[in-house]
Amino acid sequence: MTAKTHPALVGSLSMANPSVKLINFSPGPTSLPKAVEDEIAASFKKPGLTSLALSHRSPEFLKILDHTKASVRRVMDIPDDYEVLFTHGGGHGQFVAVPLNLCHDKSDIATYIVNGTWTERARDEALRYCSVHTIDGRDSLGGYTTFPELTEEKIDPKSKFVYLCSNETVNGIENHRLPKIPESRRKIPLVIDASSDITTKPIDWHGDCVGVLFACASKNIGHPGVTLTIVRRDLLGKAKASPLCPGVFNYTTNLEADNLWNTPATFNIEVIGYLMDWLEREGGVAENERRSIAKSRILYDVIDNSGGFYGTPVQDNAWRSRMNIPFDLKGGDEDLTDDFLIESWNEGMVGLRTLTPFGVGDYLRASLYNGITEDDAASLADFMQRFARKNSA
Ligand SMILES: *Cc1c(COP(=O)(O)O)cnc(C)c1O
Repeated sequence: MTAKTHPALVGSLSMANPSVKLINFSPGPTSLPKAVEDEIAASFKKPGLTSLALSHRSPEFLKILDHTKASVRRVMDIPDDYEVLFTHGGGHGQFVAVPLNLCHDKSDIATYIVNGTWTERARDEALRYCSVHTIDGRDSLGGYTTFPELTEEKIDPKSKFVYLCSNETVNGIENHRLPKIPESRRKIPLVIDASSDITTKPIDWHGDCVGVLFACASKNIGHPGVTLTIVRRDLLGKAKASPLCPGVFNYTTNLEADNLWNTPATFNIEVIGYLMDWLEREGGVAENERRSIAKSRILYDVIDNSGGFYGTPVQDNAWRSRMNIPFDLKGGDEDLTDDFLIESWNEGMVGLRTLTPFGVGDYLRASLYNGITEDDAASLADFMQRFARKNSA
């Protein structure tokens, strides 16, 4: 038995020794691409004030804000009838802001597709502000391993919105494309929590009836402290929102103030701009999707070809997350898992088991956000193969 105080077993993200390359597989917050982190570091060496010290109403910051907004629009191909907001309160802030902006009072209906931990939490928050209809996404064994079929009967036609999470970060379930809403329900806007998969696949904004799409920055596009919230213009209007919606969460209030109703997360907004510029240089969302497919496939291949040494909960490729790959060793063998964590940590691979609000979970998890390269994923795949060979006897 290994003592459970080893840094690798308590989720340490430090490297074992400075000579190995650190690869951060953490589910978030996480590392940005090396080129972006270098650019951020360089910005601190330039003369003058950085965005950490700039007034949000100064011409210098307004230029940064405009730049980030324009880059987000280009990279995500956002149509003109959508507005881009930089909101506070993280993903959890939007769990509350969505019903408070789109439902006037408790009698308004909203449909929540619940197929994992984050949609459960969003639905539970919404229960306080509107009448929630849940589409239960559990499989026949009561677990979350798939995305439910959407039929007309499941979606109340009076719904103000249909809510889903396009990548359930903890459960490892992803919609590689947004689901098609039955024809008779297509007037209802979709609300999408894209916190952990934004920029890794195209969004068909009009074709998929997107009403609101939000993403906390700390997974794929930046640092904690800012959330990218994109809202279709026809959903705005103070009269539509709940009179109890706080100003800081009110989409219309913030839009009318050009994102400056209160102090926005200035530095974090600048970082999103760096990340979007990097993505554009690298080939945009299309190239990023190719990379995501390649990074995840190499790990699923190791798992699927390990003769049962490694397991992963989602069996259907159609729903397997490209962003977060949960896996266990010999059905969850504790000693073996500890050895795996310590040995991979010694090779610089960190963040494979972190605490979440939902506990440590049964699975380890490799998160493959924008900061992880194809080579990084290959390093983990190689380690997993070596480890399995050594421990298969
Ligand atoms: C991490 C995460 C959240 C929580 O975001 P916070 O910024 O911590 O509030 C919400 N939804 C998804 C899908 C996530 O991955």
